Amino acid sequence: MCGSGEYYHDFQEYALTEVLDKEGNPVMEEGGIGEIVSTPFTNPVTPLIRYRTGDLAQVTFQPCPCGRAHRRIKKILGAIKIIWRLLMAVKFSSSAKYSSERV
Ligand SMILES: [Zn+2]
Repeated sequence: MCGSGEYYHDFQEYALTEVLDKEGNPVMEEGGIGEIVSTPFTNPVTPLIRYRTGDLAQVTFQPCPCGRAHRRIKKILGAIKIIWRLLMAVKFSSSAKYSSERV
């Protein structure tokens, strides 16, 4: 996290960090959400190329008060699987409630 702002900088000299939508395209809109896919440059022993982290992030292209021009990560929203499970739990509890009301 940057000392001048509340978001994370994407330091591209250490890793290529992509934030991709469901179709695998880069998220380019302000506040867009996608999966973090990383290619780190600092680990020669176990190279990772376009490693899908399974984490969702929200990006921002707004300039940082510190003056760096990197794209920034506004928020890391958590693992895709966990979010999917939460959505399914909400859906299940809603349908269970609906079913019990109909009986
Ligand atoms: Zn900054």
